[in-house]
Parts: sequence; C-alpha cells; structure tokens
Amino acid sequence: MGKIIAIANQKGGVGKTTTAINLSASLGEKGKKVLLIDSDPQGNTSSGLGIDGNQAENSTYDCLVNEVPMQDAIVKTDYKNLWLCPGNISLAGAELELVEQKNREYQLKNAVSPIRENYDFIIIDCPPSLGLLTLNAFGAADSVLIPIQCEYYALEGLSQLTRTIKMVKQGLNKDLKIEGVLLTMFDARTRLAVQVVEEVRKYFGATVYKTVIPRNVRLSEAPSYGQPVLAFDKRSKGAKCYQKLAGEVIKMNT
Ligand code: ADP
Ligand code: MG
Repeated sequence: MGKIIAIANQKGGVGKTTTAINLSASLGEKGKKVLLIDSDPQGNTSSGLGIDGNQAENSTYDCLVNEVPMQDAIVKTDYKNLWLCPGNISLAGAELELVEQKNREYQLKNAVSPIRENYDFIIIDCPPSLGLLTLNAFGAADSVLIPIQCEYYALEGLSQLTRTIKMVKQGLNKDLKIEGVLLTMFDARTRLAVQVVEEVRKYFGATVYKTVIPRNVRLSEAPSYGQPVLAFDKRSKGAKCYQKLAGEVIKMNT
C-alpha cells in the first residue's frame, strides 16, 4: 500500500512545489513507484515536470469535483518511476464548488483509495492555504511533510498549521501524522539562517530532517526546463540534497 504524504504549509514560496517535484523524482530514481498529485491551482508541479495541466484531459479538479476515477487522470512523466495527476487553474474553483458537496473533505481520499496499491509513495502538493484543497489532502494522507524556509518569518504561521493538523486529527483523519519538517533555502553564509535552523530544531525536535536543502540556483532553474533537478543537473548541490532527503524518507518508512 502506498504511503500518502501531503506537502503542506499555508505560506507561499517556502519550497512545497520544489520539494514535491524533487523528492518524488528522487524516490523514483531510487526504485520506488511514485504518484505525484498536483493540488495547487497554479499547476507548477505539473509544468515543472514538463506537463501542461491546462492541456490535460482530466486533472485533480475532475477527480475532486466530478468524481472522475484518478486512473483516468494520471499520466506517466518522462522520469523514472514517476507518474503525475496534473493540476490546473480550474482547481481555483474547486474550493467553492466542493462546499456544496457531501463528503467534501474526503473527495481526494475516495479518488486515491482504489489506486493506492499501485504505488510505493503518493505525494500531494498542496496550495498555499488551509482551505478545502489542503483539507482534502489531509483527509487522504497518512502524514504531512512541512517545508520551512530558513528566513526571518520562518516560524510565523506554524502554530496555525500545527493547530489545523491537531484539529484534523480530532475529526477528519485520526491517524494523520507529521512525516517530517524540512528546512529549505538554507544559506550558510547568513547568521540568520543558522539561527532559524536552531529555532526550528528546538520547536520540532526529532521530526526535523537531518538533510537541509540549501539555496541552490539549479533548483530554481530546473522548472523552466520542465525537469526535476536530477535530470537538469545531477551533480548540483540541490540534486544531491533531495536524493539524501529521499534516502531519509525511505529509511523512515521501512
Ligand atoms: P511553494 O510551492 O511553497 O510556493 P516553491 O517550491 O514554488 O514554493 O518555491 C518558491 C520559489 O523559490 C520558486 O521560484 C522556486 O524555484 C524557488 N526555490 C525553492 N527552493 C529553492 C532552493 N532550495 N534554492 C533556490 N530556489 C528555490
Ligand atoms: Mg507551490
């Protein structure tokens, strides 16, 4: 049965999508079968893998709102062991359309359940909000991976996120766990980044991954070529760190 991990943080620009793409590709490279679900209206996860969500026959939106079987939305990417359920701008409407629906927080869970056993890992890239799309991801997931950017306001908003996760555990999904906390965009030259790392480790303890993702220009260039950094520049620091992270994730789940 595939382990389902939601990548969430209601703050934008903390590295959710970069992590979703590059962790998934690295898990695939290590021989794990991976499905990446793009649940952000921006569709950056899809375009970052060279797939235009707006051209897709079916998308995460159709699975959520029109109850299209996820099997009919999934496409194979050009990368080893990596499949994608594409996302696009129509997801922006899903937040509202779902409000009317019965079981509105379980639409993603219902869509994923029948295909779960086909994969080792199912990674969900969430939008930068704690609305219904993210709640659907929390309803479907076994755990949440939280990326935190190493900058001044890093810890801001985290109490709201942990409160939401606590609330979800009391109702929507009793078994939801924190998979891990990932420090991103670390710049060793600044004292501030070093302090943020210390503070986040104090706050979250052992749930913080040993691997810290550095600020690396290759990571920000790769999406415009529609490639995970592994394919774009295998030797870059970014590629190596996401592979290390994948190793940690596999180790924790075996
Ligand atoms: P989110 O999905 O949380 O909004 P993204 O993954 O889209 O965040 O990252 C925000 C921006 O920062 C993007 O332009 C991305 O390319 C860039 N970025 C993310 N991680 C890194 C990194 N480790 N080094 C350099 N740039 C990064
Ligand atoms: Mg994103």
